[in-house]
Amino acid sequence: MTNLDYAIKLVKDRKIEITPEEIQDRRWDVHGLNNLSKQLTMWREAKGFETNKSNFASKIALTHSELSEALEADRKGDEEEKLFELADAFIRLFDLIGANGSDIEEAICFKMNLNDKRPERHGKRY
Ligand SMILES: [Mg+2]
Repeated sequence: MTNLDYAIKLVKDRKIEITPEEIQDRRWDVHGLNNLSKQLTMWREAKGFETNKSNFASKIALTHSELSEALEADRKGDEEEKLFELADAFIRLFDLIGANGSDIEEAICFKMNLNDKRPERHGKRY
């Protein structure tokens, strides 16, 4: 199943009206994210850390921990620390993406094109 086939299946399951052309719209400026993912993965490997299918859960937990640190920084009113903790979370996420060799640029475009077709607040309260 190609990414486009998966996207079409997801759209049908959610009953969202979107054409294959709209699904593949690349108007979002995501250029460089795949390269960043590869760079972060190479950096992580050079530092001796491993990211693979067997430690995916712990890597997700570590990403959560960075977001929690950002939340604590926000509670303290420390905007600078909050930004750096959010950067840590992105670094961990992009490493996870790079380790898989996934096309995050295509995935973000698809999800944003899909989100664009959803109602205000996606039909929910928040
Ligand atoms: Mg941190």
